[in-house]
Amino acid sequence: MMNTPLTIPPMLERAERYFPAKQVVSRTQEKTHRLTYKEIGKRTRALASVLVELGLKRGERVGTVAWNHHRHLEAYFAAPGIGAVLHMINMRLSPDHLVYVINHAEDRILLIDEDLLPLIEAVQDQLTTVHTFILLSDKEQLPKSTLAPLYSYESLLEKGNSAFPFLDDIDENEPAAMCYTSATTGKPKGVLYSHRGITLHSLVQGMVDTTAISERDVCMPVVPMFHVNAWGLPFSATFYGATQVLPGPQFTPQLLAELIEQEKVTFTGGVPTIWLGLLQVIKKGNYDLSSLRGVVCGGSAAPKSMIEAFEKELNIPFFHAYGMTETSPIVSFSSLKSHQLSWAEEDRYNVRAKQGMAVPLIEIKGVNENGEIAWDGNEMGELLIRGPWIADQYHEDERSKEAFRNGWLHTGDVVTIDEEGSIKIVDRTKDLIKSGGEWISSVDLENAIMGHKAVLEAAVVAVPHEKWQERPVACVVLKEGEQATKEDINAYLATQFSKWWLPDDVIFMEQLPRTSVGKFLKRALRDQVVKAT
Ligand code: ADP
Repeated sequence: MMNTPLTIPPMLERAERYFPAKQVVSRTQEKTHRLTYKEIGKRTRALASVLVELGLKRGERVGTVAWNHHRHLEAYFAAPGIGAVLHMINMRLSPDHLVYVINHAEDRILLIDEDLLPLIEAVQDQLTTVHTFILLSDKEQLPKSTLAPLYSYESLLEKGNSAFPFLDDIDENEPAAMCYTSATTGKPKGVLYSHRGITLHSLVQGMVDTTAISERDVCMPVVPMFHVNAWGLPFSATFYGATQVLPGPQFTPQLLAELIEQEKVTFTGGVPTIWLGLLQVIKKGNYDLSSLRGVVCGGSAAPKSMIEAFEKELNIPFFHAYGMTETSPIVSFSSLKSHQLSWAEEDRYNVRAKQGMAVPLIEIKGVNENGEIAWDGNEMGELLIRGPWIADQYHEDERSKEAFRNGWLHTGDVVTIDEEGSIKIVDRTKDLIKSGGEWISSVDLENAIMGHKAVLEAAVVAVPHEKWQERPVACVVLKEGEQATKEDINAYLATQFSKWWLPDDVIFMEQLPRTSVGKFLKRALRDQVVKAT
């Protein structure tokens, strides 16, 4: 067989050639843009020529500090197209971590959204490798800024070569993109994605047993483009010629509902907190969301009650998937096997609420102190993963040795795997609650509490206990206008769990602290709760 390389330029070339009239709908600060793949192709090539002109060399990194919009999409393809690496920067990192990731990645050029300029201005004196700044804006005029040299993206593109050829000698194992983990502990860790990994990951996203992205889709990644390449959706949507809707900065659940209705979005993806917010809005408002054929949810566990609310009340198919920054991200996808379709409803939703089977080409196993765990849905162990889009190291980082051993990624996630091969994330190793020598899953408790009709969000953390070592405490945000007491919550849980699993306390809060990618920040919450007790 021919050993043709699996690289990113042919993915965009395919969209240019076969789907030139299909659209990318992009919301920016000023307006909603509608560009065809033909236009996106020309602009991407012009950007590639500009980056070369500005001195960006093969293998070097160009950083983006940007929301989900067409200019970010253009950068997704322009940097790999010249053999450079796109570093998607999580702008919600602390200033210290922001400086760390930019210097550690050795970014040369930064592409920055106008509203995010102050974040970079504030740390510019500490940046050691960046030589050029480019402003992503609809406006021709550059704003006043201390960044120099600062160019306008649109002015540069006007002078660029819209027929610029992408490199045709890229090795498929060369890096194309880069993200850092959002780091709930320690410094962020950098992951380089290869051309090959991204191509194969995009192929898997087109499979019917996973996200099934196709030309017929209108795909809206709500997950930020800096969070594991927006889960790869911009790459696969372009590859397959799907229409894309990029929701831009500061969107609200209302705006997402409007976009879905107006643009007839068929497929969207994001973390559970996004869908919890959307659910409230859809229930109150009068939106026609019948175009949706799938919502994919990952990044944290999707509570069963949320999956049921989308599917049973709103008739919107809802899929649970699992992955990490280190895994590009898709590892597993939860869908029913044909023989499970006839199972009782409760059993079917129990399967759907798990994180699912590993997708093709990904291998998994669970390991504990006794060796490999049995696939019996009971024995717990750490999840180990390997496959062609799984990182084999962190970028120049000592911590690689802990996570990558004997050819497997050690995830730090504690799982069970059942007879059907479905993974269930019990907890992160560091979040498991150790009570009297037994383990309590904070995730199971959270998901159950979020099934209570008065509860909007819940997180359960371990607090130190003299006798039991650790005990669970629940932090709960109630829905607007709803009321519940500690006793109500525990009575509700008592129908599902043994008594010793029930939280020692239930603390009601206005809101829960979140990580930069919208997950509950359990470490901060735990510190807060421990301090208060
Ligand atoms: P960070 O590690 O920076 O929070 P990641 O997005 O890489 O960012 O997080 C990956 C982790 O998120 C996984 O190791 C796992 O603990 C959790 N996770 C991802 N998807 C799910 C899911 N569907 N259910 C439960 N946990 C999940």
